[in-house]
Amino acid sequence: MNDDPQEHISGSPRDLPSVDEVLRTPEAAASAAEFGLDRITELVRSVLDGARAEIIEKPPSPGLRSAGRPAVLDAVMARFNDALRKLRRDRSGRVINATGVAIHTNLGRAPLSAEAVEAISAASGYTPLEFDLETGRRGPRGSGAELLISDLTGAEAALVVNNCAAAAFLVLSELAAGGEVVISRGELVEIGGDFRVPDVLAASGAVLREVGTTNRTKLADYERTIGDRTALVLRVHPSNYRIVGFTAAPSDAELAGLAHAKGLSYYVDAGSGALVDLSHLGLDSEPVVPRLISDGADLVTFSGDKLLGGPQAGIVTGRRVLIDRLRKNPLYRVLRTSKTVYAALEATLSNFARGTAFSEIPVLRMLSMTEEELSRRANAFAKMLSTEPAIAGQLRIGVVPGASAVGGGSAPGVPLATLLVALSGDRVSADELAARLRDRETPVIARIAEGRVVLDLRTVFEDEVGELFEAVRSAISRDSKGAAMKQMP
Ligand SMILES: *Cc1c(COP(=O)(O)O)cnc(C)c1O
Repeated sequence: MNDDPQEHISGSPRDLPSVDEVLRTPEAAASAAEFGLDRITELVRSVLDGARAEIIEKPPSPGLRSAGRPAVLDAVMARFNDALRKLRRDRSGRVINATGVAIHTNLGRAPLSAEAVEAISAASGYTPLEFDLETGRRGPRGSGAELLISDLTGAEAALVVNNCAAAAFLVLSELAAGGEVVISRGELVEIGGDFRVPDVLAASGAVLREVGTTNRTKLADYERTIGDRTALVLRVHPSNYRIVGFTAAPSDAELAGLAHAKGLSYYVDAGSGALVDLSHLGLDSEPVVPRLISDGADLVTFSGDKLLGGPQAGIVTGRRVLIDRLRKNPLYRVLRTSKTVYAALEATLSNFARGTAFSEIPVLRMLSMTEEELSRRANAFAKMLSTEPAIAGQLRIGVVPGASAVGGGSAPGVPLATLLVALSGDRVSADELAARLRDRETPVIARIAEGRVVLDLRTVFEDEVGELFEAVRSAISRDSKGAAMKQMP
């Protein structure tokens, strides 16, 4: 049987099977149960169209007989199975992240803890989302998670919305629409390609008043700019880039003091917003939310799926009078989040409350892996690959020093030393090998560095190592099969 979809179909258009003939094959019938008959019929049509075009473009040489119907059907089925495999691959499922980027925005940011996953499952049915079990009446939405946030940040109250962009938009719409927002020129940043501070401000109806210069802004600059029309003093953590060298900015306590002296609120968009100090991991430039609150910030917003390591969410925490205003704003109804998100967030936050965040929350666990642990895991995996003759015969396998990244626009420029398993082969390019690793039902996402495929075990879960090994083996076996076939007489 021809199972190589690349091989040219040789035959005449008359030898092509009908759509129904293909649909009657066991493979197609099973896939129709999986994806629906319409989708599979469409797939069969497009495979047959492609096969017909191929045959017409390159007919068998004159004098040669067509390969005949059974051979053409085999070739069509090989193409159909390949298309089916891609359909399965592309449905949104799990991928193995071997990039070493812990908060990978393109790979869904923070992977959830086992407890958070369980909580989502438990909350999938009916839950007391807006129900007070004490009184039997309607209660506040998502209060469990919000109480935990207040406890952990030392703030009076908290509110959860869809994401941090939504949180910032809600705060600015409620507190600054129609007025001016004073912000340092060095903080007018773009985050993640679509969150631009000036655009969010404009959309919320607030007017931007820049103060200072890109690298240096002093308290006196703020003081001079604040006037009758000022509605809010804003600081945005420039998450994904860093100004280094001759720089200056007032402290949060100074800015809060100035805002309060002028009868204004001080709002900080912290972005990643660590709930605990992460300077022992080298992440000392990440704002720590409880510290911002104790320094006098009236409102702080941050993401649920960055350094917090939870589900996508936007968290607002701060003074109760302000949080209550946000909750009453009609926009809150538009931006609110779901019961499953509250459940996952509450489970994640409870790890901080119990002091188990660094062992139970995957992002924090990955970022706090020691070099010894990384070395042990990289060397063990390299050894596993080297002791498999089918792999060792085709690939050079090495362990090389490299750097992981926090990702998610957090802590740019912070090098996280790691050890990488580097793979290269004579028969396969790095691009081709990386493509084969992705072309699986559970795709493996790797990086390429200096012409080699590099795997960073930091972001690969312990129970994924077997699958990762299998992915490398099958990526290589395509070559050995080709080689073996060529050797046949
Ligand atoms: C990431 C980030 C945002 C956007 O957060 P989302 O949760 O992706 O909406 C907003 N502000 C800052 C400072 C950020 O770092």
